[in-house]
Amino acid sequence: MPQRAIGDISIARILEMSTAFERSAFYPETTAEDWAPHLAWLMDEGALDRSSGDLIFPIQSYVVRTSHHTILVDTCVGNDKDRPHRPAWHEKSDTSYMTALAREGLVPADIDYVMCTHLHLDHVGWNTRLIDGRWVPTFPNAKYIMSKKEVDIWKVEDHPSSRLSMIDSVLPVIEAGQAQLVSSDFALDDEVWLEPSPGHTPDHFSVRLASQGSTAVLGGDLMHCPVQCLHPEWVARPDWDRNLAIATRRRFMESCSETNDLVCMTHFPLPSVGRIVAEGDAFRFAYDEGEWV
Ligand SMILES: [Zn+2]
Repeated sequence: MPQRAIGDISIARILEMSTAFERSAFYPETTAEDWAPHLAWLMDEGALDRSSGDLIFPIQSYVVRTSHHTILVDTCVGNDKDRPHRPAWHEKSDTSYMTALAREGLVPADIDYVMCTHLHLDHVGWNTRLIDGRWVPTFPNAKYIMSKKEVDIWKVEDHPSSRLSMIDSVLPVIEAGQAQLVSSDFALDDEVWLEPSPGHTPDHFSVRLASQGSTAVLGGDLMHCPVQCLHPEWVARPDWDRNLAIATRRRFMESCSETNDLVCMTHFPLPSVGRIVAEGDAFRFAYDEGEWV
């Protein structure tokens, strides 16, 4: 069970699966010419499939363990969910997620907090599981920290990327009394706090960690592929507000490159963790695999 230490905090990955996305569908404003200079290095890093050229996204959570709390950040796709538009996610019933959790020495009752960076399908799925025909919180002792603003917006917006996940993965947690709806700058304590990173969704947040002078940030989906470090202006199809998403990416990378935070992304190829390095008027992602122990 590889872990990464941030002072007294440890970070581990819980990988559920990988999913392929067609490049031009996911980044609809890009052209084949835009991608041409990047295909080779993205394939070498595992961000693109070598034969199809499709984007390959890990679907994963991070477990953050501090001396006080065990925190699960984002909860992947989940089992038994009605996702007819995406066959690999639709009503699946595999053991990969719970096996990965067990590999970290954890059972669902061990989780003190679940933090959802945003409420898309692949970030809230294991919030709940289907028991006797009802969606019940998977983590019985956890408070689920979600943005109140984001929940309020998705309650009234009928948006395909969030409609289904609200019904089976968010609202049942609220009804069970386990949701803690917060502003996106909420601080759990002086080691773990949220930082607003809106654009991909209306009130997307990142999770900041600090301990003993070391810092890290879990960036959720403010970027999906390391090519966006070079091209923060490339807009992903699910980005809610394209200009805000671009501005957030630039601001995030400027900040992380200046302070040398360990950056943990959801869908960057494994190990998905590294540093943002300023290069010319853009950035690149320097992977940090060697420091996992
Ligand atoms: Zn995602």
